Amino acid sequence: MSLSANIINRKSWLEVATISDFPIQNIPFGVFLTKENVVTVGTRIGDFAIDLGALQQLNYFDGIDLTDDMFLQDTLNDFISDGKKTWRLVRNRIADIFDEKNPKLRENKNHKDVVIFKMDEVEMQLPVLIGDYTDFYSNKTHAINTGKIRNNPSENGLLPNWLHIPIGYHGRSSTIIPSGIAVNRPMGQYLPEGETTPVFGPSRMVDFELETAFITTDANIMGERIPINEAEDYIFGMVLMNDWSTRDIQKWESAPLGPFLSKNFATSISPWIITMDALEPFRTKGPKQDPAPFPYLQFKGKHNFDINLEVSLLPENGQETILSKTNSKYTYWSMIQQLVHHTSNGCRVNSGDMMGSGTISGTSPDSLGSMIEITWGGKNPIKLNDGTERKFLNDGDTVTIKGYSKNNGVRIGFGEVTSKLLPPFVRK
Ligand code: MN
Repeated sequence: MSLSANIINRKSWLEVATISDFPIQNIPFGVFLTKENVVTVGTRIGDFAIDLGALQQLNYFDGIDLTDDMFLQDTLNDFISDGKKTWRLVRNRIADIFDEKNPKLRENKNHKDVVIFKMDEVEMQLPVLIGDYTDFYSNKTHAINTGKIRNNPSENGLLPNWLHIPIGYHGRSSTIIPSGIAVNRPMGQYLPEGETTPVFGPSRMVDFELETAFITTDANIMGERIPINEAEDYIFGMVLMNDWSTRDIQKWESAPLGPFLSKNFATSISPWIITMDALEPFRTKGPKQDPAPFPYLQFKGKHNFDINLEVSLLPENGQETILSKTNSKYTYWSMIQQLVHHTSNGCRVNSGDMMGSGTISGTSPDSLGSMIEITWGGKNPIKLNDGTERKFLNDGDTVTIKGYSKNNGVRIGFGEVTSKLLPPFVRK
């Protein structure tokens, strides 16, 4: 089936700014709350939110086999469960409805009134009910940097398993939040520098991790392994992700089972899921894998994606500083390798599961994806544009991650994930 939604010279009758992340070629999926307090599945073109539930009730999806309440939901899970064929049919149809050459909805004011909202009139929700969340550690530069910072005795910072196995840990889905929701500085146990006895208190090393994540559809039954040449069929799309972390708590708690409370207090994601179909023009090869991975992880073709990423910090009453610019294409273990490895023991993956990439760092100092790398564990504080310094994040700091792909004049963006760090939670 063709990806007619991706036609480069297609234009919408809705106004779209030239630098918009959301031209008619994007057509992401999300969930929003309208002014009338109705939750609905939707898409976005330019700065307009489009109610897919209303479009379906007005029969704009006639001829596509959908359940009656497919979009009258507060999550995308049912739609994602329906599989790639349905995603493509719906996305192509939306492109057709909003094509400048199609007068059907364009000339129907009554329909437009119930279908189209301004973005600033809606409130974005979490797009999926995330059943399980796994975070990988798939960027080689980040793995080397953090290995060195933690004084790993091996000479290049990489543990011996890293080049053979996509390392990951099971996160916690209960604290995944959409962009805009603030996060409290967590309490926890850590061992202050030079001490031998741990303390319990507010973390003093709150950090962000610049990541992307992908959302899956139902992939297998328990026990079944996904072959790598099928894996991409089970990936619905991608979001930006800030994997909030506390380095002091992480260091103290991580031996021997890995991170636990240092990372599960909050994970922020951008609210629009950009489909793999929309990202199709931005395929690229990933870094060369040496040694060659096991056969079950070997693949042909281009399965990394060229997505420009940026993270900035805005202090309270301060001035924004761009901390880093990097790119998703630097990821060593590709998304299909992550997914295949995840099911290689028969672990079941469901519709709405989320898998994070791991911190995405480039090799230059201005392309690092976390404060622990930027300040080298707090040893080299950075100066912000407002003259203040940071080793890690201060209360009142807002962290924003943005991302977009661009070629042949088409820009497919993710929007942003932004979130403010608040002081520790106080029970009222
Ligand atoms: Mn992470």
